[in-house]
Amino acid sequence: MNIVLMGLPGAGKGTQASNIIAELKIPHISTGDMFRQAVKEQTPLGIEAKSFMDQGQLVPDRVTIGIVRERLSKDDCANGFLLDGFPRTVPQAEALDELLKELDRNLHHVIYIDVDEDELIKRLTGRRICRQCGTTYHLVFAPPKQDGICDRCGAELYQRDDDREETVKNRLKINMEQTKHLLDYYQSTGTLKRVDGQQPIDQVTHTILSLIRGNLK
Ligand SMILES: [Zn+2]
Repeated sequence: MNIVLMGLPGAGKGTQASNIIAELKIPHISTGDMFRQAVKEQTPLGIEAKSFMDQGQLVPDRVTIGIVRERLSKDDCANGFLLDGFPRTVPQAEALDELLKELDRNLHHVIYIDVDEDELIKRLTGRRICRQCGTTYHLVFAPPKQDGICDRCGAELYQRDDDREETVKNRLKINMEQTKHLLDYYQSTGTLKRVDGQQPIDQVTHTILSLIRGNLK
């Protein structure tokens, strides 16, 4: 089963990826892991990718797609894969289609974990961290017993700049724009399936697996 998993930050993509691969026994291929592996193995593309990253530059599509090609050609992908974080853009999606054609394979499912913007903001801005011991809380999912105070050591909790509403909204805006084009693309190729990501985690997993196994339209 060849799958692309999509979702905005905060949609629960990491959790769902782990649940899906455990069930389907296919490798989880995240862009970050794939790059790290290529760099570590010092493949020509890995070395090239590293030189761009070291200069703080975006790795060009040609290199990224080459690394995806190397990864998908490995033995553990023979029965399928779950791609996460790639493709990010329509040209990358088109390149993936080309690549799979070359490998004589198909993309079976593109799963989009759909969560409202308001809910994403709530999830992404809720993190609080203890100034003293570093314990992490979440206002919705793991709140401290006392507002703003660490359960463990009684010190003050703070919010990282990255978790502030302004920052989160900006990050989401950029992501939503990219995602919208990708969703349109996969809608047009007929591979897109949207899953309601606001259900309980287990229910989301169940829905995804049912879709993949063809029990749901
Ligand atoms: Zn503490």
